[in-house]
Amino acid sequence: MTQMVREVGAENTRFVDDTLLVSESERALRGARCPECATTTFPVQVGCPRCGAQGMETAALPTRGALWSFTVQNFQPKNPYRPDGDFEPYGVGYVDLGEVIVETRLVENRPDRLAIGQAVQLQFVRAFVDEDGTEVLTFAFGEENR
Ligand SMILES: [Zn+2]
Repeated sequence: MTQMVREVGAENTRFVDDTLLVSESERALRGARCPECATTTFPVQVGCPRCGAQGMETAALPTRGALWSFTVQNFQPKNPYRPDGDFEPYGVGYVDLGEVIVETRLVENRPDRLAIGQAVQLQFVRAFVDEDGTEVLTFAFGEENR
């Protein structure tokens, strides 16, 4: 089973952490790029992990990449993870976006549908639901849909 893909900005939704996206209208992951050596990080870091330069610049990361490594978690994570109804196994992995490899949740949770090198794109899925019914979305990578 795959998770249902959602739209950021849809009614009765909010994104889990606004600092992870460039903006609500530019739905790309917000990374940081070093002005000295072009090292890119995600999430954003203030200083460059490679050359130590300060003043990393905001970078909109590519929204498509290749699955670099993955696993399926069959147990519920500990706090601060918030359960969303009955627990379902979920995929996690690393996606190679060219300039940086990001750790991410995966839309797909069936290991036989996942493969190293698979083309994936940035999507959004429900992480949990607030007390008032608002769906809280997080990012995930899943199969390209066009
Ligand atoms: Zn650097």
